[in-house]
Amino acid sequence: MPVIRIAEEAGACYGVERALAMVEAAVAKGGAPVKTLGPLIHNPRVVNSLKHQGVSVVDSASDAAGAALLLRTHGVTPEEERIARDQCAKVMDATCPFVKKAHAAAELLAKEGYAVYVVGEAGHPEVEATLAHVPGSIAINSADDVEKYAKALRQARRIGLIVQTTMSASRLNEVVSATLPLAEEVRVMNTICEATAGHQDSCRRLAQQSDVMIVIGGRISANTTRLAEIASQYCPRTHHIEGPDELLANWFEGAENIGITAGASTPESHIKSVYQAIATMVGAN
Ligand code: SF4
Repeated sequence: MPVIRIAEEAGACYGVERALAMVEAAVAKGGAPVKTLGPLIHNPRVVNSLKHQGVSVVDSASDAAGAALLLRTHGVTPEEERIARDQCAKVMDATCPFVKKAHAAAELLAKEGYAVYVVGEAGHPEVEATLAHVPGSIAINSADDVEKYAKALRQARRIGLIVQTTMSASRLNEVVSATLPLAEEVRVMNTICEATAGHQDSCRRLAQQSDVMIVIGGRISANTTRLAEIASQYCPRTHHIEGPDELLANWFEGAENIGITAGASTPESHIKSVYQAIATMVGAN
């Protein structure tokens, strides 16, 4: 009978649990309609369940005039926050403290005269919010990006790097190694959050012992996608799903060891339901 294991560190992190507690409290309190600026977390199933409780998502703070507005865990730009505080009945800041730490690190580097680069994905809400805290800063996501900005990096001479909280340590190392030969000084503020590092280490260990890996979480979730990439390196039969309805029985044919992990925006209840569905499929309960 196959063995099903859940990664030691998996699922909802401190920042996500904090944001969900804040939104639940706001709904329970009643009063002004509750809205979130962008999806509160990158998990469509959770966002959909909040929608059923009357919590809607707005794309810009000016669409939430008069509402009670939660700022997403990934953070917002200073301009978005200013509009929210001017126009909303109430503003609740669910920005994860680890993301705030990255904003502060970027501002400190700029103040100390470094040219600031954010190691992360351009276009991701967290990276965009961090970039907006330091006008002129640029996102770089790979050694290829470093090559692309080589001229500007050489001219800057003193480079300050801060990191998207969900970045993998190996990608950070790749970018730092590519940047070092271009500058007189490279200062790295490692703002990868503890939950990300813990989830990735546990995922790597479990994938090494597994024939099949199931990674649960939103497809738009950067940290879940990163877990799926890490798992695939060690376990080619890795599948990224958002919920138990996506599981297929033939994924588990011949598998003796099945591993489950979940991104930082995946609640415990989702992990349990996937575990149960797999156990039923493979006859392990
Ligand atoms: Fe905060 Fe890290 Fe969770 Fe993102 S993954 S919400 S930075 S604790």
